[in-house]
Amino acid sequence: MNFGHRQDPLRAMFQNMSSNQFFMFPDREEEPQSQGVSEEFIDKLPEMEEGKEADCNICLEKVGSNGNKSCVLPCGHAFDKSCLSTWLKDHDSCPCCRTKLD
Ligand SMILES: [Zn+2]
Ligand SMILES: [Zn+2]
Repeated sequence: MNFGHRQDPLRAMFQNMSSNQFFMFPDREEEPQSQGVSEEFIDKLPEMEEGKEADCNICLEKVGSNGNKSCVLPCGHAFDKSCLSTWLKDHDSCPCCRTKLD
């Protein structure tokens, strides 16, 4: 058996990766999408306009139905604030239409 001229697979992988990618996600190469958003971002979201109705896509109840605060994402979808802040701890996109938030 002679492996002398074979290319080391790890080294080949490293060489194929752009240095950019490598430095952007040093520890999270498998889940680059689940970074979550900051509490501050959630705090700044506007509440749903008075008189409007929407279903929360997370708990599937009417937004604000249980005395919850409402909030509206930039894409226009509304959610209970408590539902949304839970969701956004692990995600950085709208649960409804997957618009990326930042
Ligand atoms: Zn909800
Ligand atoms: Zn949306």
